[in-house]
Amino acid sequence: MNTVKEYTLPVKGMNCASCAITIKNTLKKVDGVINCEVNYGNEKIKLEIDNNKTSISELSKKIEPFGYSINDIDSNTHVMSDGTVMSNHDMHKGMDHSEHLGLNQTKEDKLKELDRQRRKINIVMPITLITFFLMMWEILSLTFTSIPKFPLDMQIYQSIALIVSTYVLFSIGGEFLKEVITFIKYRVANMYTLVGIGTLTSYIYSAIIVLFPSIKESLGFPDTVYFDVTIIVIGFIYLGKFLETRSKLKTSEAIEKLVNLQSKKALIERDGVEIELDINDVKVSDIVIVKPGNRIALDGIIIEGNSTVDESMITGESIPVDKSINDLVIGGTINKQGSFKFKVTKLQSETLLSQIIKLVDEAQGSKAPIQALADRISEIFVPLVLIISVISLLIWIFIGSMFMPFEQALSLGILCFTGVLVIACPCALGLATPTAIIVGTGKAASHGILIKNAESLEKLYKVNTIVTDKTGTITKGELEVNDIYSLNNDYSDKDIIQLLASLENKSEHPIALSILNKSKELNLELLNTTNFKILEGKGLRANIDDIEYYAGNIKLVNDLKLKTDSLNKRVDINELTNTGKTLVYLFTKKEIIGLVTVSDTLKDNALETVSKLHKLGIKVIMLTGDNLNTAKYIAKLANIDEVIADVLPKDKALIIKELQSKGNIVAMVGDGVNDAIALAQADVGIAMSNGSDIAIESASITLLKGDFSKVLNAIRLSKFTIRAIKQNLFWAFLYNIIGIPIAAGLLYPFGILLNPIFAGLAMALSSVSVVSNSLRLKFAKLN
Ligand code: ADP
Ligand code: MG
Repeated sequence: MNTVKEYTLPVKGMNCASCAITIKNTLKKVDGVINCEVNYGNEKIKLEIDNNKTSISELSKKIEPFGYSINDIDSNTHVMSDGTVMSNHDMHKGMDHSEHLGLNQTKEDKLKELDRQRRKINIVMPITLITFFLMMWEILSLTFTSIPKFPLDMQIYQSIALIVSTYVLFSIGGEFLKEVITFIKYRVANMYTLVGIGTLTSYIYSAIIVLFPSIKESLGFPDTVYFDVTIIVIGFIYLGKFLETRSKLKTSEAIEKLVNLQSKKALIERDGVEIELDINDVKVSDIVIVKPGNRIALDGIIIEGNSTVDESMITGESIPVDKSINDLVIGGTINKQGSFKFKVTKLQSETLLSQIIKLVDEAQGSKAPIQALADRISEIFVPLVLIISVISLLIWIFIGSMFMPFEQALSLGILCFTGVLVIACPCALGLATPTAIIVGTGKAASHGILIKNAESLEKLYKVNTIVTDKTGTITKGELEVNDIYSLNNDYSDKDIIQLLASLENKSEHPIALSILNKSKELNLELLNTTNFKILEGKGLRANIDDIEYYAGNIKLVNDLKLKTDSLNKRVDINELTNTGKTLVYLFTKKEIIGLVTVSDTLKDNALETVSKLHKLGIKVIMLTGDNLNTAKYIAKLANIDEVIADVLPKDKALIIKELQSKGNIVAMVGDGVNDAIALAQADVGIAMSNGSDIAIESASITLLKGDFSKVLNAIRLSKFTIRAIKQNLFWAFLYNIIGIPIAAGLLYPFGILLNPIFAGLAMALSSVSVVSNSLRLKFAKLN
């Protein structure tokens, strides 16, 4: 039995990006852990483990000493009574999807955490602001004579400061000290460790000066104390943390909105009576009653009544859709005026909405390649900063004291040591990419653009060539029969349609649908077929009354080496195809019996979308199995740059490959049915979905209610997201690259020294600004 399973679970206790690294490095070493990714952005861990060798609870215990835990969804009992750990999937079958994903739970946890942080800053911020005010007063009154002298006696002020900072450090800032202890015990450090060491150092140094004047005098220390540093740094770090947590909550709003679309109950009709059932008790084929204004609970098909439905929350399409018998309805959408009954086709856990939620959740937890560098840097960051801070302290003591009295050098050294520890936080670095990815993919989902992973989102903006399918992508895919030609006097036009319709009955190609519609229009009966076979990219074949019939294109005709003389006498093939008509031949092994032309209309926004893509410098190529003339006609209408026609489905991927080998970054847009291999081959595969399913494996992006113009929106979104990530990374790096040397006192010879207080402020602001920048993506215009 395969006991390897994948889990995506919330992690508790992380306070910065380096925590994610500590967890990853710890768990990777455990036997049975095949893969482990920790994302600080959404505070989740992705684990692939062998359940024979280890378990989630065991792994959680491994990181508990460092202050973290993996929040197994069923938090009280990760381990079943018989000792086995159940997989996510087993355990949550039939459960409400939001519970399944642990979304509500973590949201609640996050709100609790935010509350806890709010209570802390409510206490620490007033203290911080008063201290800050007094500190500025003291500094300024020494510089500017116009400012009144500091009113308090220094000794009294320092004693009060000692008491207040003791309270702030040991009571409010206890978390930081805990990390220092963890560091001493296990050699595991994170941002809180740095802050802890920094504030503790300035506190101890200052306490010695105040409490042991004799030591101070014998060593000749100056009177300066740094209690204010301890207080203000802790205050600012907490303020920053609070703002960061609050902003991070906002980044996942999009997916929460989706989760909230899920109904808890449904009004069911059973044996003629209406009953309200819990959504998990509703079965496939149950009849659901939908009244005006109701939210549609599940996916299904209308069996009675009609209405208009607002599907904007799922497809991003703002215009309500008319629905009547046999139309599909999507769970989570809202019924407008009419009322209707529908038959349930999918359980709650399999609805389109559930699929979307799962996909978005996974995408938000996935890593973008652009993050790799930031990850590698944060990995060595904390130890590196510890080393830098110690080195700067030593340099101050040994080299600084050559230029100034020892006690002054020591005092400045302590200041720099603290400053480096406080300013250097990989936090902003760790938040730069994930927060933008979370907001970006969430925003995309609200527009009906489902992005499978961060990597595709990152690749999309680089695309310079878009290869598109014709039918259903550039054209509406709603074909109509135009002309019917009989080439054999034994068959009337009606016979030809009847035979074709009977043959096409089992096909799902848009051509088949048009011919079937025509036969319905003519009230024709369908004949029985046997030996039905689809001939990919060419047409199909089946037997009727022991005669083998074919329906398809000229390739298929040529395959059978049929004569086309009589055909050419009757019709001008070029004239037909030049006006965009697709030809469907009806023939036997011996002769061509008839010819039908079908045509499609251009999608309303195709031309506009193509010209907008051109403006972005993207080349658009049409790749189709239809004949060249027909394809060219459509391509011209849509202003498409290049046409590659007469291509068999299996060759589509080869053409993509060829384009790639010329250095193009190619996105393929298709229906995902017979374009699957090409979609997979492309750098970004974009599938147009009909809106009932998104499980198009080969595509990395799915456009709900397949609208070609959404390709443009997706590219725009990708551009915005990547730009935000680059801005974030730039600022995060810049801030650390500039901040650390200044804090270490490198610019002291030029009279510039960064007080640790401002280091703390800068640090707090850096993560807040990164998250805020990512949140700006919410307002990006995609049209
Ligand atoms: P595309 O999706 O680019 O239109 P397909 O591979 O689906 O390409 O089809 C290629 C061509 O094969 C069609 O243009 C049509 O001429 C022919 N064909 C495919 N399926 C059928 C069918 N069911 N009946 C008639 N012709 C078909
Ligand atoms: Mg196709």
